[in-house]
Amino acid sequence: MHGDIRLRSKKALSIAMGVTFILLTFFLFVILSTGCKTRPPKYTETPVIIPPGISKPLPTLTLEPSISPTKTATSTEQIQLPTRTQTPYPKTPTLTATDTPTEVLACIWPPQRVLIISVDSLRPDAVRDTTAAPFLLNFARQGSYTWNAQTTMPSITMTGHLSMLSGYDATTHGVINNKIWQTPEAVVEIPTIFQRANEANLTTALFSGKGHLLYIERAGFQDFSYVDKAAKDAEIAERVVDYIINNDFNLMFINLANVDKTGHAYGWMSNEQLLTISIADSAVQTIVGALEAKGILASTLIIINSDHGGTGISHGDAHIPTNRTIPWMINGPCVKPGYQVQQDVNVFDTAAMALWGLGIEIPADLDGKLVCDVFQTPVSNQCLEAQPKK
Ligand SMILES: [Zn+2]
Repeated sequence: MHGDIRLRSKKALSIAMGVTFILLTFFLFVILSTGCKTRPPKYTETPVIIPPGISKPLPTLTLEPSISPTKTATSTEQIQLPTRTQTPYPKTPTLTATDTPTEVLACIWPPQRVLIISVDSLRPDAVRDTTAAPFLLNFARQGSYTWNAQTTMPSITMTGHLSMLSGYDATTHGVINNKIWQTPEAVVEIPTIFQRANEANLTTALFSGKGHLLYIERAGFQDFSYVDKAAKDAEIAERVVDYIINNDFNLMFINLANVDKTGHAYGWMSNEQLLTISIADSAVQTIVGALEAKGILASTLIIINSDHGGTGISHGDAHIPTNRTIPWMINGPCVKPGYQVQQDVNVFDTAAMALWGLGIEIPADLDGKLVCDVFQTPVSNQCLEAQPKK
């Protein structure tokens, strides 16, 4: 009897335990599955383009119109990022459309003017591999370009710009002191392209947000110059637009300085620098838009390059490839569209190309050479003939 009861209660106990186990498993399943359903979907990162040499992903860059320096992450609150200039020029810039083919510029050679823009310290990967400079990227793609041009040794502002605007390498002009511009008595001992243009009775204009250009201005600059080391890129663009509206020119040089300044403060390719690059990009777009609005874009040869790159927070050591490698882009009449330049390009070739565009004979002693690759035939052949034989 007792044994029977014990057996039954044992049976009841095991049934009860079984039921409890099933119920517990069921509740656990319900809890888990409900929990999974209420959990947010798996977080997917926005793909970030990582430039070569950068080990950590860059923060996603939001471009205008939603750009808001105060809202950006990290330390942007400490820096004064210039705001983009809202300009009426142009409504539809010729060189910006990516998908629709732009109006093909008629090949009438020589052009009536040459514009050189130096985006100070701009690295090619900032244009090629990030979304910071959409206008410059399209400018390159719709013209001819190389991401592998080289600047001088040392890779500094004074040396790079003097080579860019004279056609002589640092080994020829010998200016490797970045502070020489602060010495009023210091003179440029080689002719600049401005002097050569003036000798040919052509008009010249220079705009710079860097004091270094005062040195080149002192070399003999006659028509118009504006150099203010405190000027932001957007201000420079406004002044250039105002000048273009009211004047014509044969040779214009513009230096946009802010990308270099944020590079030294926050690092090359930092989010802060990429934001400044987007502002410089907008400044270039504004300037090109002014040429278009005036109806002189089709007769202007435009070269956009930089004086050096940068690594970490500096750029002087030219043995480091990211300091010495610069973007070099050209667009205008008779320039091949969508052409990646095969020949080697150096910063002093910019000067040679400017002289050729202005119809000035290339001096035989110039270190800079013509990048004839970029032109359509027959201009490319005329270009080869204009290159002095050494
Ligand atoms: Zn520089």
